[in-house]
Amino acid sequence: MPRDPRFDILFEPVQIGPVTAPNRFYQVPHCTGMGYRRPRSLAGLRGMKAEGGWGTVNTEYCSIHPSSDDEPYPSASLWDGADVEALAMTVDAIHEHGALAGVELWHGGAASANHYSREAPIGPVSRPAGVWDPVQTRAMDKQDIRELKRWHLEAALRAKEAGFDIVYVYACHWYLIRQFLLPSNRRNDEYGGSLENRARLLRELIEDTKEAVGDTCAIAVRFSASDGGPDDDQDTAEPREILELLADLPDLWDITVHDYTYEMGTSRFVPEAGLEATMSWVKSVTDKPVVSVGRFTSPETMLRLVRQGVVDLIGAARPSIADPFLPQKIAEGRDDEIRECIGCNICYTGDQTGTPIRCTQNPTMGEEWRKGWHPELMPSKGSDSSILIVGGGPAGLEAAVALGKRGYRVTLAEARKELGGRVSRESRLPGLAQWARVRDWRLNQIGKLKNVEFYLDSVVDEEQILEFKADHVVLATGARWRRDGLGRSHEDPVPGWDGSTVLTPDDIMDGAVPNGPVVVYDDDHYYMGGVVAEKLRREGFKVTLVTPANEVSTWTTHTEEQFRIQERILRLGISLVTGTSLAHIADGSVTLESIHTGEAGEIEAGSVVMTTSRTPQDDLYYSLVDRISITRVGDCLAPGTIATSVYSGHRYARELDSVVAAPVAFLRE
Ligand code: ADP
Ligand code: SF4
Repeated sequence: MPRDPRFDILFEPVQIGPVTAPNRFYQVPHCTGMGYRRPRSLAGLRGMKAEGGWGTVNTEYCSIHPSSDDEPYPSASLWDGADVEALAMTVDAIHEHGALAGVELWHGGAASANHYSREAPIGPVSRPAGVWDPVQTRAMDKQDIRELKRWHLEAALRAKEAGFDIVYVYACHWYLIRQFLLPSNRRNDEYGGSLENRARLLRELIEDTKEAVGDTCAIAVRFSASDGGPDDDQDTAEPREILELLADLPDLWDITVHDYTYEMGTSRFVPEAGLEATMSWVKSVTDKPVVSVGRFTSPETMLRLVRQGVVDLIGAARPSIADPFLPQKIAEGRDDEIRECIGCNICYTGDQTGTPIRCTQNPTMGEEWRKGWHPELMPSKGSDSSILIVGGGPAGLEAAVALGKRGYRVTLAEARKELGGRVSRESRLPGLAQWARVRDWRLNQIGKLKNVEFYLDSVVDEEQILEFKADHVVLATGARWRRDGLGRSHEDPVPGWDGSTVLTPDDIMDGAVPNGPVVVYDDDHYYMGGVVAEKLRREGFKVTLVTPANEVSTWTTHTEEQFRIQERILRLGISLVTGTSLAHIADGSVTLESIHTGEAGEIEAGSVVMTTSRTPQDDLYYSLVDRISITRVGDCLAPGTIATSVYSGHRYARELDSVVAAPVAFLRE
């Protein structure tokens, strides 16, 4: 289908200083968990974005000097010639597809504890450094500031040598340049105190970078448009003054907000284009092009923002991760095929855990180089085998789509009256509606594949599987929440677990109504405990959330949600009991025990929602494994995230009838 001419404007070139972006699709800098440690993986990933039509593709933040390393979070670096060589691979991969390559030069200042380089952290003033790290910065003197400027300039020259087209001065988030910009910079020299003084370093860095590389490279500034929160809590007074001061100095303004929990907030907390009002004044202050982000997946939203003059370029990190081919799909009138980001932030957990990026929607993300996976291309089938998939959750659906694209004959049987498995069920919980996109994209794809058929309301048993006589059976039957409380803190069932008051998240999602007051026992530590507590509280129950961790939903620190979840739990009036385990369940009450002191106490509980761990639904596997070709995927193999299920289903489909290297099934750097 040809594209709607209304969208032509998105494909117009944009002049950015001395370079021209071929279109308005701009992949802003985003972390990948690769950085300097995995340069080939990085080149593979960034090159794929360019192939998919992103006119500009940036690196993650790129350290300019060993006085700022962010270990254990992997960043890129331009410390010396070896880094130039490594990053040139990324530049070449981007240029191969006609896109511009940008690099976000970065110095963390007080944000970096320098665990790797062991250099003393530096900053405008002496203050605690890193994330809860027991070290402080050394206050920079004038000589340090001169040194910093030299490092930045030399890194810019290296960036040019590597072939980059856009070089950033990174003045946002909680990093060095913003530490100078903030009122907390109370230096009493010309780099602190008054707003003009606090902005001096930024001004000088822009000027120096321009002079050093501005003949061939555009100079972009990443800047925070608000010192406050989202649209309903803006504080734009100082950002506006600074922007007015520097309005036309850089070639491009990359505008965002400093608070990651809003800038890249999950869909549970921040909607698409959630920062629009915060950004909308910027273009009235500068004549230079402006790019900004907002988890944009809708071409209509992109069009409106460009038409209304809010931005010149559509900035995207997550939408480009979930679908590296988003621009190409719009260009070809295939908008319905966009694999829309669900706003879960699993992609960010790579950086936070020091591991390569992964994505819930796009199982090929991060696998471009090491496994040679392409998000849009599948190898042709390796045989004429027929495949029966049992279970239509994310694992079964992804396997069906990927096998279907390879050309296999696929039949999927789902016990329920709807497809989607856990994503359909969980997307009805508060704040998780967009998770249904995992199902919807796959349903849309299945609709286009003649060789894939599915049956709903079809509980498949051993006999039916044997009767069906498929060459291969894929068991994607998922997992169920345990009722007995086994999990991280309990090796044995919690006494009293088999009483009538115990429910599981599956029961709640199936519509069970608890008796109040409710105790949600969360020994899972991702989102489920907090979400179930929120749902029941909103329905009017008195809820106590009990967890052995020292904060609610503790793993969500990796998805940048923990703070927002705890805020919501407390604001809703849910009682939060941390560092505590569930010792005993009685009729009408539970006994809780401090994990620190063992001190026990009883609280009233009409129901307990046990959120601890899950049991794979794998009986069919064990009864059939010696008789037919049967493989478990997703939660049925090992309960995990939606991302692990999608990946598992995809991997099965990719590897069927092919030879996979063992024991390491991927290339290493
Ligand atoms: P995953 O994340 O691994 O895809 P889910 O729990 O989301 O797991 O999905 C599993 C799906 O399998 C559910 O929709 C469930 O209804 C379905 N299912 C489980 N057992 C059977 C069965 N015997 N026959 C058909 N479908 C089944
Ligand atoms: Fe979007 Fe989730 Fe993929 Fe990140 S992991 S790009 S938030 S779908």
